[in-house]
Amino acid sequence: MENMCKNYVIAIDGEAGTGKSTLAKNIAKKYKIVYMDTGAMYRCVTLNMIWDNVSLDEIDKINNILDNIKIDMENIDGEDKFYLNGVDVTKQIREKQVNDLVSQVSHIPVVREKMVNLQRKLARGKNIVMEGRDIGTNVFPGAQVKIYLTASAEERAKRRYEQNKEKGIDISYEEILKNVIFRDENDKSSSVAPLKKADDAFELDTTNYTLEEVENIVVGKIREKVDLDA
Ligand code: C5P
Repeated sequence: MENMCKNYVIAIDGEAGTGKSTLAKNIAKKYKIVYMDTGAMYRCVTLNMIWDNVSLDEIDKINNILDNIKIDMENIDGEDKFYLNGVDVTKQIREKQVNDLVSQVSHIPVVREKMVNLQRKLARGKNIVMEGRDIGTNVFPGAQVKIYLTASAEERAKRRYEQNKEKGIDISYEEILKNVIFRDENDKSSSVAPLKKADDAFELDTTNYTLEEVENIVVGKIREKVDLDA
């Protein structure tokens, strides 16, 4: 066990719709550690740009947004709520206009720099489970535990579709599948922080596993590295 007295980071990375969020949330809740959804942060920046009518190449305006942006998260009755500059945007950040743009926004170097700094700052002094794309490779390359999840595109789109339905977000399965494939390609080919497995990450293909099975396997891996019950 490496973390007997120091804080630890559990990095959960992978493609869109692999079950990262549910897994990270469940682990955080069960073992009373802090949870951070880094994708939601990029979604908030994207929504702010949409609100202000700022396009991808207007770097001065983007810098201005980044200087003033306030992203807050709170958990109410088990539901994570996100606030952008004080406004509840929990639902809006999952809608189509944000889905379509977020990948490109997340590749703008100043956006990445600001978000990565913020993520490191927010994690300081905490035991934390962070889910995203580049946590194990870039945000916390020294994370004690690194998990990398994959699943077939069809299965991932199906999961996203079900998740959206529960949240009252109406996007067709076909539309989601197209978006999932587009975002993955875009995320993997990014020159800024491409989505890829860290060399020392544990990779798990979740296509044929239930959420519970994935959680059991991952918790087993985490326990090899840190003491979750401390
Ligand atoms: O996890 P989620 O699907 O909400 O992430 C939305 C987008 O944010 C991803 O498609 C990716 O482009 C970007 N992202 C990122 N780095 C992270 C988390 C998300 O670039 N750590």
